[in-house]
Amino acid sequence: MPASYKKEHPQEQYDWIIIGSGLSGISLAAILSKEGKKCLVLERHYTAGGYTHVFKRRDYEWDVGIHYVGEVHRKEKMLARLFRYITDGQLEWEEMDEVYDQIIFGKERFNYVKGTENFKEHLKTYFPDPEDQAAIDKYVAMIRAASHASKDLFSKRALPPLANRLFGNFISRKANSYSRKTTREVLETITKNEKLIGVLTGQYGDYGMPPAQSSFIMHALLAKHYLGGGSFPIGGSARIFETVEPVIEKSGGKVFTNASVEKIIVKNGKAVGVKMSDGKEILAPKVASSIGVHNTYLGLLKDEPKIDKFKQQLEGTEASSAHLCLYVGMKYTAKELNINKTNLWIYPDNFNHDENMANYLADPDNAEFPLVYISFPSVKDPDWENRYPGKSTLEIITLGDYGTFKKWEDSRWKKRGEDYDAYKEKISQRLLQVLFKYLPQLEGKIDYYELSTPLSTKHFVNYQKGEIYGLVHTPERFEQSMLNVHTPIKNLYLTGQDIVTCGIGGALSASMITAMGATKKNIMKKIIEATN
Ligand SMILES: Cc1cc2nc3c(=O)[nH]c(=O)nc-3n(C[C@H](O)[C@H](O)[C@H](O)COP(=O)(O)OP(=O)(O)OC[C@H]3O[C@@H](n4cnc5c(N)ncnc54)[C@H](O)[C@@H]3O)c2cc1C
Repeated sequence: MPASYKKEHPQEQYDWIIIGSGLSGISLAAILSKEGKKCLVLERHYTAGGYTHVFKRRDYEWDVGIHYVGEVHRKEKMLARLFRYITDGQLEWEEMDEVYDQIIFGKERFNYVKGTENFKEHLKTYFPDPEDQAAIDKYVAMIRAASHASKDLFSKRALPPLANRLFGNFISRKANSYSRKTTREVLETITKNEKLIGVLTGQYGDYGMPPAQSSFIMHALLAKHYLGGGSFPIGGSARIFETVEPVIEKSGGKVFTNASVEKIIVKNGKAVGVKMSDGKEILAPKVASSIGVHNTYLGLLKDEPKIDKFKQQLEGTEASSAHLCLYVGMKYTAKELNINKTNLWIYPDNFNHDENMANYLADPDNAEFPLVYISFPSVKDPDWENRYPGKSTLEIITLGDYGTFKKWEDSRWKKRGEDYDAYKEKISQRLLQVLFKYLPQLEGKIDYYELSTPLSTKHFVNYQKGEIYGLVHTPERFEQSMLNVHTPIKNLYLTGQDIVTCGIGGALSASMITAMGATKKNIMKKIIEATN
């Protein structure tokens, strides 16, 4: 169990302070602990885990930021190895069904079937035209190639700044040819079929940007990540923190919740510790921040002149989209409700995601949602029945605009006013209507629901615009030199979803890259050897 900073303060001397207890923060702490380092993890929320935390209401529990993770069920994959390494093999995963995602446009449904060949062959049954079928083959080859090339794009981020400046572009030259184009630009080189483009980008909500805006490398990484299907942590996503924490503690490390960092203390160009929101100072020879570049550079280091050189990049790199999530509880089993593990991606009856998004943003209160994602976490977790017998949960997500909620941003959680509650209720009903349209058997079975808004995300995880995925994943993002493990301040390092990409895979890989950059050791080789 983590300690609460409200009740006790760190007393010992630590080798590292790590700000934020999301997956990247705790994973970095676990990797460094295995290098014999004593790590102090400071988390401002009252629950540890960042987006991997769960919350409870009445007799239900929901996972906030994990619906499915790819590759973890394949022992030889780096992601599976990393999870085994940071948890000492204590975290278990349950695979989803053959159909991991179903893409729905109006009345038409398209299944994503696990396994590369199955994926291609099944998709071809919806697209009998030989030109489309050839495009599907090309598409899969392309996402595999781009995903492979991305390794260079991210590993260069562990290089010291000078080496990065001198050789970075050369190292990532293959990846640059994919990252500098939008998803739509690349897909249009293989097909002009809008329906095929719409279906192939049916998971765009996993990185929050429609095809004409997102970098193709982000799309490729995501689509390739799930080609082998998805998995869910047995016991729910809280098991991630529960299984990593003992590894951190083995080397004398400790995690504190309710521990909000206000400032990184810099002396003579070096990070020497942090100042907490209660004014207390905690010193350590090395500091890492996992709370995002905006929060780190514009928040914890806002008065630091060495950061000025990034000001332009920081201002030019927007936050990713925010989201609305309706957490739903039902007093029935999955069997009684006839629900399964497949995620549903529901779109308007128009295959052009960018148009759907533009229509929605022009009139968010009346236009159709550009996407609605429905996930059934209780069905995915084989341990759920032991913890919550006779109950089921689901989550309905759509993209949300922070601007719509700005007028309430200075109000307090749970006390934002009747107009806010009424607005939330209106959105909740709209989302339930979509649910009942596609799963009519659930009408009349809902026992509890609660909507989170971009303000909830800001309140709990501190993303200033309620963003889901840190920085936007545009082609420009992948050019930013500030997205590096090393900072202009000695002994201060960055990790987290901004350093690689959003997603569990991105956050976890970021922790390894940061550990490699900071220790100058081949940690990846060590992890592979330790998990053979
Ligand atoms: C709704 C939703 C669904 C998702 N679904 C999936 C999915 O199915 N599969 C997948 O792979 N990915 C998914 N993701 C993305 C994934 O969860 C994230 O990309 C990943 O967990 C980010 O990890 P992180 O460590 O970078 O950051 P975070 O988890 O955001 O951790 C940062 C932590 O820092 C803390 N913090 C912030 N400021 C301070 C401060 N000043 N002092 C101390 N602590 C601070 C925050 O409270 C937070 O705990 C989803 C995300 C969301 C929001």
